[in-house]
Amino acid sequence: MSSTILVTGGAGYIGSHTVLELLNQGDEVIVVDNLHNASETSLNRVKEITGKELTFYQADILDTDAMDKIFSQHKVDSVIHFAGLKAVGESTQIPLTYYHNNVTGTINLCQVMAKHNVKSIVFSSSATVYGDPQALPLVESMPTGIPTNAYGHSKLMIEEILRDLSESDPDWKIVILRYFNPIGAHESGRIGEDPNGIPNNLMPFITQVAVGRRDELSVFGNDYDTHDGTGVRDYIHVVDLAIGHLKALDRIKEDKGVFTYNLGTGTGYSVLDMVKAFEKASGKTINYKLVDRRPGDVAACYADASAAKNELNWQAEFGLERMCEDSWRWQSNNPNGYKG
Ligand code: NAD
Ligand code: UDP
Repeated sequence: MSSTILVTGGAGYIGSHTVLELLNQGDEVIVVDNLHNASETSLNRVKEITGKELTFYQADILDTDAMDKIFSQHKVDSVIHFAGLKAVGESTQIPLTYYHNNVTGTINLCQVMAKHNVKSIVFSSSATVYGDPQALPLVESMPTGIPTNAYGHSKLMIEEILRDLSESDPDWKIVILRYFNPIGAHESGRIGEDPNGIPNNLMPFITQVAVGRRDELSVFGNDYDTHDGTGVRDYIHVVDLAIGHLKALDRIKEDKGVFTYNLGTGTGYSVLDMVKAFEKASGKTINYKLVDRRPGDVAACYADASAAKNELNWQAEFGLERMCEDSWRWQSNNPNGYKG
């Protein structure tokens, strides 16, 4: 049976890929996005790819009246909550903006949801809540750590707020998804990651070097305790990640409570592994230089993804080669992202 899913931040990178999968599965989708870090073009392309319609509101989750109106106009079954600010470096400069947008925004969203008796939500958390890993791979039952920036703190705070909410009202159905490092793009090459300004993340930086928008990649640190000295992460294809949200919604169709899952592949690759894999997939040479470590980075971080496999019946299907090919198809077809 089809459901009506409200997706906050649905015009963004992960949101647009998830909206596409929801439409393909036959759900009705309502997107709420203030377009702070996105373009409506992504949604137009999702409509084009799927041949399906969706409802879009350019609205801010902090705007109670606007949110109230939207929930009055639609019978929403569940919410997938992507809306948030995510630039780690920026979050250290404007922490209040980050806490207000991410934490207050989520509180506001949940209050409006409760008022309309919508108590089912999937939340975008991050592996950053583990802090500096005490052991690897990371398992959901491990204690959360101390994030090194306001962005990470905001994610951890929201997780705790959602747990308190469920304690106070057991009717809530909540899935917290801790993403590892999403990369890649839809196979059509029509939607993908389009960061504003200089990319913070590794893969969009690499693709922008490949397409000639940046001269060279800075590799942050080559003296970590990893196989080649560069940082190791668990990169996951964004389409796999998107499908994880559909499985998360299935999980809370019947069961109430809070469920927390890592979404990763379980395999770690170093920065130089990524450069090599991307060069192979794209046929381009990536110029890079070795520079100092980036403050706040951990040496290695990868998931134990067995809980999602056992309880959500989900596992990542795409390997590194495919992730690199899809990132490159998106970037080479859209050298300036959605700006043309
Ligand atoms: P994104 O910036 O592409 O998407 C976030 C979307 O939320 C944007 O379209 C933005 O315009 C919108 N938004 C922000 N604040 C809003 C507000 N107050 N009201 C309405 N819309 C608002 O980022 P993404 O990579 O797609 O990430 C989605 C979510 O996943 C975020 O919460 C992010 O913190 C989380 N996450 C991302 C990663 C990653 O590496 N991409 C990793 C872990 C967690
Ligand atoms: N990284 C890098 N150069 C860049 C961006 C990132 O060497 O321009 C490294 C970073 O130090 C980390 C890995 O790439 O080891 C992934 O970084 P990203 O910012 O993409 O993700 P996160 O730090 O959130 O895991």
